[in-house]
Amino acid sequence: VEWERLAELMAAGGVAVLSGAGLSTESGIPDYRGETGRTRKATPMTYEVFTGDAQARKRYWARSQAGWRMFAKARPNKGHEAVARLAERGIVSGIVTQNVDGLHSAAGAKGVVELHGNLDRVVCLGCAELTTRAELDDRLRKANPGFDPEVLVFNPDGDAVLSDVDIATFETVDCKKCGDGVLKPDVVFFGETVPVQRVKDSFEIVESARLLLVLGSSLSVMSGRRFVIRAVKHGIPVAIVNQGPTREDDRATVVIDAPLGQVLPRIAEDLTSSALKVEGLVA
Ligand SMILES: [Zn+2]
Repeated sequence: VEWERLAELMAAGGVAVLSGAGLSTESGIPDYRGETGRTRKATPMTYEVFTGDAQARKRYWARSQAGWRMFAKARPNKGHEAVARLAERGIVSGIVTQNVDGLHSAAGAKGVVELHGNLDRVVCLGCAELTTRAELDDRLRKANPGFDPEVLVFNPDGDAVLSDVDIATFETVDCKKCGDGVLKPDVVFFGETVPVQRVKDSFEIVESARLLLVLGSSLSVMSGRRFVIRAVKHGIPVAIVNQGPTREDDRATVVIDAPLGQVLPRIAEDLTSSALKVEGLVA
């Protein structure tokens, strides 16, 4: 069966993981594309709109203030735990994620490259000071006492659709360090470039791997797809585990269409118990 074939490919180690939103859906964070492949109505915020329009920023922070609290509650699922375990055993050599939820690290994985940043951090566009989202949450709560709308829909970028509330009255806050710098979540918005060093680090992880394992990404955007293209160019086999088809299924050696929370623990169990046998640690 397919998962056994994947376990065989992974057994030699040197597995680079590229993960997308599909890995976090089992933690309660919705994908832009549901299992049906239908695109959600919500449009992600773009860098141009965020930086160019104060009203749009106000709307974003009002919605995101509510959306972030749902994110803050999300916990790693069996898929994240399996990846962390495989990394600990040296089978997974590096992790590149498109997710901004920090759940790989929360599961115990080290040195994760967060390609699109992390919603837990806030950056000042004036002085580049990094602060925590928890601190901003506190400041926004104080600036907006009683603002507690119901979240109707929330998005993988932390944005949310709220019940009918008066967003015009929502007060945003500026950078505490430089005084008037505009604050932005430390995530890469649509239309924004991923920092060069992060891209370099990610390519390095992929190019030095024996296998590129794509988890929970439909590879519909170039930001993730380029790593598959690079692996193929270097003759590195690609395996994909995702619910639904991806743009690169044709080039992959193994494709598994199944929930990650089912496939990954099984593979981790298989590989880590056989590794123990080799080391003579268990009978
Ligand atoms: Zn500042």
